[in-house]
Amino acid sequence: MPETFKRIACVGEAMIELSLGASEGAARVGYAGDTLNTAIYLRRLLPEDYEVEFVSAVGVDPLSDRMLAFIESEGVGVAHMRRHPDRIPGLYAITTDDAGERSFTYWRSASAARTLFADDGGETFAALSRFDLVYFSAITLAILSPAQRADLFAWIDGFRAAGGKVAFDSNFRPKLWENLATAQKDVEIAWRKCDIAFPSVDDEMDLFGDADAEAVMQRFEGYGVPYGALKRGGEGPLPIGVSLDTPNSYRMVDKVVDTTAAGDSFIGGFLSQYAQGAGIGAALLAGHECAARVITCPGAIIPKEIWNAGA
Ligand code: ADP
Repeated sequence: MPETFKRIACVGEAMIELSLGASEGAARVGYAGDTLNTAIYLRRLLPEDYEVEFVSAVGVDPLSDRMLAFIESEGVGVAHMRRHPDRIPGLYAITTDDAGERSFTYWRSASAARTLFADDGGETFAALSRFDLVYFSAITLAILSPAQRADLFAWIDGFRAAGGKVAFDSNFRPKLWENLATAQKDVEIAWRKCDIAFPSVDDEMDLFGDADAEAVMQRFEGYGVPYGALKRGGEGPLPIGVSLDTPNSYRMVDKVVDTTAAGDSFIGGFLSQYAQGAGIGAALLAGHECAARVITCPGAIIPKEIWNAGA
């Protein structure tokens, strides 16, 4: 029997999203964040008896309550969410210029999520230890203090030694890091500590100065990363750690509407197959199929009704 992973935790920051229309005085409110996006697509794709949890820190304010209600409405658990007494969630606004180009403006430097593993991790590490598979990203790392990052890395060592699996995506956002050297150091530590890696060529080139996909693959071989996928946008993913049973080609998307959450949804699709014990070929195809759907709709999360209708 292949190994299956029934309890999955996605760890990171979710933010309030304001989508501003052309006219003043109106905005649509949503909730999104890289690891939350992955959790939602993973939940939609897995059988019901699998558990998907989003682990983060929010406030005790009404918007935090609404955010949690939204996450729960997607079937994603929030039982281990920390509640900070004074802080509130981060927020970002999306504005679109006359040419249709989108800009993102963030207010997140004092968000509650930055205290996710404060006070030695509180009860959060103990809660995470009960999962089979834990997924986080370099955005998760970047928002933490150096002390919290060190605690997270130490926890990962114990979790893996006890048989837990860790998945990681670099999602490099330069503005969130103290400096490039720290980002390189900590992301490399994370790559070396993960069981399933989801780098994307662009992020790795920006962060580590790799010349191309081949250079990224060589560096990952050097790290000894056992499994995963290198995301290459429309070219389709390359398997990491294995070469058998991989697809020869991927469906092209004729009309890309919005590539927001392409990588996050790819990981949701990939992990949905991996968690059920499927091989790398099925995982790569499921990742690509999920991302290919998401990039034909605006925004990070395809509304549930549209998703259920098979869009
Ligand atoms: P990230 O968002 O992490 O940088 P990518 O841009 O590589 O990741 O996109 C993730 C996945 O989404 C790709 O591996 C691919 O499966 C799918 N994808 C992205 N862009 C396209 C596209 N133009 N056509 C088809 N699939 C795409």
